Amino acid sequence: MSESTFKTLIYEIPEAGIARIRLNRPERANAQDTELLYELNEAFDRAAHDNEVRVIILAAEGKHFSAGHDLGETDSAAAMARHRTVGTMCGFGCAGAEAQMAREEEIYTGFCERWRNIPKPTIAAVQGKCIAGGLMLAWPCDLIIASDDASFADPVVSFGVGGVEWFHHVYELGTRKAKEILFTGDSISAADALQLGMVARVVPRDDLQEATLGMARKIASKSRFALKMTKLAINGVADAGGRDVAMQNAFHLHQLAHTHNLKVFSMLIDPTGLPEATRKAMAARLAAQQQQQQSS
Ligand code: ZN
Repeated sequence: MSESTFKTLIYEIPEAGIARIRLNRPERANAQDTELLYELNEAFDRAAHDNEVRVIILAAEGKHFSAGHDLGETDSAAAMARHRTVGTMCGFGCAGAEAQMAREEEIYTGFCERWRNIPKPTIAAVQGKCIAGGLMLAWPCDLIIASDDASFADPVVSFGVGGVEWFHHVYELGTRKAKEILFTGDSISAADALQLGMVARVVPRDDLQEATLGMARKIASKSRFALKMTKLAINGVADAGGRDVAMQNAFHLHQLAHTHNLKVFSMLIDPTGLPEATRKAMAARLAAQQQQQQSS
């Protein structure tokens, strides 16, 4: 097994033809800060550019696949400034909605679209909780294998936003189920996700990595170019139905929600739906930032 380690994830070749990326912030339930998302993008690129790799697995260390975006990140602007290599949108460092939209176009919708369109099969191995931004790591993958303790949720309507940035819910769940889980904030169990067709297999937790490798092995035995053409053909079906336009529409509404919340609550989300401890921590951080701005 060859291995090279990023700061927030592990990149490895567990066997010939298969690359595996493991999110490695288990102490934060693999919450995604800016650095992790750029590293993940780089790791996907590495696997995509390696002609020996035919299948890419995205897995996660620890109890949970991903708790979503890291609301505790304190210096996202510095992390953006270190990278900003992918998007072509301007607006970094500008004021107001322009900067926020540029950031989210780059590290959220931009990355998710790139990962969805990697011309090689990708498989997510999901255990524990996969919440909000966590969906934006699992959903861009072509197949999802879940452990029997996995659950999936996008509860952000409680925070005054109409769903995560990469609004793929309808394509994953169908219209009515998408409305139900967004309106209620309820999570979907692994068994329900299997029934909905969102996940390909549900396996015991201890078998998750081996089951994922087994499926990757089977796919890796096929022609690389045939796999690419198959993926392009299937992804093209949703795109022919206007998926990209629908996704853009949802993303623009998401930006409107952030702008509204900034005006009303002085933060990107409505904090009334957050647990009290998180709400207090965010308020304290906001106050410290404002004090810093006033004194500089
Ligand atoms: Zn957002």
